[in-house]
Amino acid sequence: MENVMIVGTGCAGLTAAIYTARANLAPLVLEGRLPGGQLTTTTAVENFPGFPDGVDGPDLIQRMHQQAEKFGARFRYGVVEGFEPGAPHRVNVDGEWIETKALIVASGASPRYLGIEGEAALIGHGLTSCATCDGAFYRNVPVCVVGGGDSACEEAGFLTRFASKVYLIHRRDTLRASKIMADRTLANPKIQPVWNALLTAYLTDGAGEVSGVRLRDKVTGIESEIQVKCVFSAIGHEPNTSAFRGVLETDASGYLVQRSGTATNIPGVFAAGDVADHTYRQAITASGQG
Ligand code: NAP
Repeated sequence: MENVMIVGTGCAGLTAAIYTARANLAPLVLEGRLPGGQLTTTTAVENFPGFPDGVDGPDLIQRMHQQAEKFGARFRYGVVEGFEPGAPHRVNVDGEWIETKALIVASGASPRYLGIEGEAALIGHGLTSCATCDGAFYRNVPVCVVGGGDSACEEAGFLTRFASKVYLIHRRDTLRASKIMADRTLANPKIQPVWNALLTAYLTDGAGEVSGVRLRDKVTGIESEIQVKCVFSAIGHEPNTSAFRGVLETDASGYLVQRSGTATNIPGVFAAGDVADHTYRQAITASGQG
């Protein structure tokens, strides 16, 4: 039987691993579908304290991983498929049931897409949510980013390294992003904001690859089309809670509910990071909860 299992290896899971390992609990840490979590899909992190010159997201994660391992955390790849609370708790990892005294759910959140018909088939064919992963495939061609938050600004800025032009398609006429990110984005000559714009359809070429988008102006109702080779979705995230549905309490948006500190409704089960936090969603707050 395990003392502690930790689900997730983003900032929350790895910090929980450092603390529980230093408490001599030898935690078993599960690396799921995106080992290292969302920071592995970003570039420079400028707001994590202690790095005045910024730090690459993957580097920061690798350092946390090493730190946890140094104190005795054990890592294993695996996706949680089921959970039965009890004494001990039982966690199904890729079909194998593992018993544990305590469980820390730090499974994070996954990028959202618009939900337009035919969308799923276009992911990987000119529709993506990760500029860091896919941006370099789109050199000297126009692309667009959908969204108006920090992610959209960060993606748009990164994409200007490759693309000939980056349209920033936002459904309102002001950015939600932090002031520094918004100012930087709007000052970038390669980024063209398209305000009050709703993306209503993806256009495709004969090979089934994205060739453009159809937009509707929310104010005037006028429809238009722009030619782009790739659409980067940056419209927020969904918490990864499917394995715990119906057992751990969630709010209306599906985020795990923390009752006191990081405790969930089940004794001995804790939630940390973006799987439970839709307010701050920062690397540092996820680490803090871990
Ligand atoms: P977010 O702040 O929730 O922004 C999502 C954006 O997508 C908003 O502009 C929203 O529009 C738009 N949107 C949502 N649903 C949409 C839909 N169905 N159709 C069209 N547009 C839609 O998400 P985020 O940018 O991923 O940021 C998440 C958190 O991570 C934030 O706390 C952010 O500060 C943080 N973050 C920080 C950094 C950094 O500091 N370097 C980088 C990335 C993320 P509205 O504005 O109209 O709601």
